[in-house]
Order: sequence, then C-alpha cells, then structure tokens
Amino acid sequence: MGRRQREWARLTRARMMRQMGNKCACCGATQGLEFDVIRPTGQHHARLEYSVRTSYYLHQFRQGNLQILCKPHNVIKAARLISLSDLLREGDKSNNSTTPSSSGT
Ligand SMILES: [Zn+2]
Repeated sequence: MGRRQREWARLTRARMMRQMGNKCACCGATQGLEFDVIRPTGQHHARLEYSVRTSYYLHQFRQGNLQILCKPHNVIKAARLISLSDLLREGDKSNNSTTPSSSGT
C-alpha cells in the first residue's frame, strides 16, 4: 500500500484504458470513463483499496471481461443488473407489466 503501488495502479489503469481505445464501449464517449466488469464476479470490488481493485481489473482485463463505460452507461448497466437479478429472484409469479395509467388531473 505504498506510493509505488499507487503509481503502478495509475499506470496500469492508463494502459488498460489505452488498449481499450479510451472510450465508452457503448457510445464512444471519451469523458468520465470508468472500468466495468462485463460479467460481474460477485466480488465487492468497489470496497477494495485502489491498487487491489486495479489488480482485480487487470485480472478481468486479461480474461476479456473488462470494458470501459462512460458514467451514464455504467449507471444504466448497474441498474439493469440489479433489476435483472431482482427479476430472477422474483421469478414471474406476478407479471403485472400492464399497469393502468391513471394520470389524471
Ligand atoms: Zn457511453
């Protein structure tokens, strides 16, 4: 957890970003980019220390399981995954997709 490790993490992130084209995999945005593990491994990597998280990302990158997303797309993907796992947990016992739209004044 020294300065050298932090420097390594910074360089590694920059290198991975470059190799993935420095842009969002969805829309090609080049600003506000974040790493995204394509198929989540269930690890709470967000809590990990910076350099530990970086080596986790590097590991996923080598397995072809890492992409770059802009902030909006990262949020969208995270929301989808959450709702997807909710759906899987729920099953389709109550499929009320037709909600009556009572938007009167
Ligand atoms: Zn995007």
